Amino acid sequence: MEIKNKKEAGNSFEFELKGSDEVFANTLRRTLISNVPVFAAEKIAIIENNAPMYDEHIAHRIAMIPFTYSDKYNNKDDCECEHGCDKCNVTLTLKKKGKASVYSGDFKSSDRNVVPVCKDILITRLEEDMNFEIEATLITGTLKEHSKFQNSITSTSYETPDNIRFKIKSITGRKPRDMLLESVDILKNKLTQFKKEIAKTKEIK
Ligand SMILES: [Zn+2]
Repeated sequence: MEIKNKKEAGNSFEFELKGSDEVFANTLRRTLISNVPVFAAEKIAIIENNAPMYDEHIAHRIAMIPFTYSDKYNNKDDCECEHGCDKCNVTLTLKKKGKASVYSGDFKSSDRNVVPVCKDILITRLEEDMNFEIEATLITGTLKEHSKFQNSITSTSYETPDNIRFKIKSITGRKPRDMLLESVDILKNKLTQFKKEIAKTKEIK
């Protein structure tokens, strides 16, 4: 197996995988897309909103904002706490008065390493005398849980069956190389666990 013609810049990573096969490439691609975690807003408390846009609509927009990543947080299912703590949650606050537009960049985060990837995503517009105040909790999750946890656009194309072009475009500020390596670890752990489970079963001779 060999990696050739690598192109790596910012949020994209491309290479040719030679001497492997579709099954391996596709398993890796699917693991990366579905199992590598990123941050997204989970609980969104709208404290004040007299702008014309409905609370539900605003909550949906906020849930779709991509955030940068820090690996120091636990996944909520693996955390010891019951209802969220500072080991699994990042807190966001936002308070703004009209007349103004409210952007993703207006969020104040409890962790300066976990912030919106783009500062100019419009959330809502406020006219004179309108107030807007929200609090939100960010958690890590994966695409298999919800579409808001999409980490990348990753594709594989086949020039010949053993020459596969891999393209990863991160949409969350996580480095594609890190996500690829994490998907290898996830696969490795699953296989180790599978091997243990098989060993527990009785062989019928
Ligand atoms: Zn926790």
